[in-house]
Amino acid sequence: MWESDVSLASLTRYRIGGPADRFARFANPVELAAGLRSLEGATYRVLGWGANVLVSDRGVSEPILSLSGDLDFLNLSADAVDAGAAAGLPALVGDARREARTGWDFLEAVPGSVGGALRMNAGSAEVGIWDRVLWAEAMTATGDRVRIQPEDASPGYRSVGLPEAWVFLAARFSALPGAPDAVNAAHAERRRRKVQTQVYELPSCGSIWKNPGGPYGSAWEVVDRAGMRGAVRGGAQITERHANFIANVGEATAADVLWLMAETRRRVYDLTGIWLEPEICLWGFDSEELSSVGAVR
Ligand SMILES: Cc1cc2nc3c(=O)[nH]c(=O)nc-3n(C[C@H](O)[C@H](O)[C@H](O)COP(=O)(O)OP(=O)(O)OC[C@H]3O[C@@H](n4cnc5c(N)ncnc54)[C@H](O)[C@@H]3O)c2cc1C
Repeated sequence: MWESDVSLASLTRYRIGGPADRFARFANPVELAAGLRSLEGATYRVLGWGANVLVSDRGVSEPILSLSGDLDFLNLSADAVDAGAAAGLPALVGDARREARTGWDFLEAVPGSVGGALRMNAGSAEVGIWDRVLWAEAMTATGDRVRIQPEDASPGYRSVGLPEAWVFLAARFSALPGAPDAVNAAHAERRRRKVQTQVYELPSCGSIWKNPGGPYGSAWEVVDRAGMRGAVRGGAQITERHANFIANVGEATAADVLWLMAETRRRVYDLTGIWLEPEICLWGFDSEELSSVGAVR
């Protein structure tokens, strides 16, 4: 079941980082429950599409599990869609657009899996995917299945208040019929704006920092004001098009990305007195590295 020394660079969108000491793919909840129980309480991590994960150059010592097979499904009904955690978010959003279901344009052009989107409460500044959840299902570290109501999930800005160890299996989302032309136009407009202002042609994790809010508004603005737009370290660059993106422009290492993050954070603090908080997940880093960029495990 568990493979060793599995490359994570090839499994993450950043294409950066060392191997996983142990890695396994589970095709259904029964296999997953057996896999989780085999870990006997050890801490583990769940990898979706790796669109929001930076892996350390040393790799990750915790076992990493990923989902596939029976957990990759989408079923649209009259006013809802059931999705497995391994299903692609672009497929879910594409179905909603094609079938003229309202309220899904905010996730247009967001890469990832449904499971990753539930963990990150993926979305825009105003709306997160938990705003569409009717119920979700997860598996605990002991292999038990739990049904979650959205009011018990405490979703926040790019976060959800559920145990880190829970592995999302599936969810039912609201998908009410809308006017086809209006739905299509909303999706097209969202995609146009995202592709125009963000960076899709180079490996990245999307926005590096959470928006600080208050008088400082968007993270890209303070990064820009701190003079970091376009900054380069090794093979990593804070992109000219969007100052909250750090792209892998060559053979970037995780150390390159971390250096740019730490430098940005220090400069933004000197300028504004606020410490930026990472939006991306950092795996395999030690506590000193994490604290240099304001992250916890
Ligand atoms: C170009 C670009 C644009 C982006 N735009 C946006 C945007 O507009 N809005 C936005 O919110 N994000 C955006 N992102 C970030 C990313 O797309 C989202 O965070 C997405 O939800 C990540 O999904 P994933 O499957 O890749 O998760 P991963 O990166 O694999 O994992 C992210 C987190 O989810 C956890 N996780 C994954 N699967 C599961 C599961 N089944 N159960 C429990 N935990 C799980 C992981 O352990 C990790 O903590 C963008 C990224 C890129 C590269």
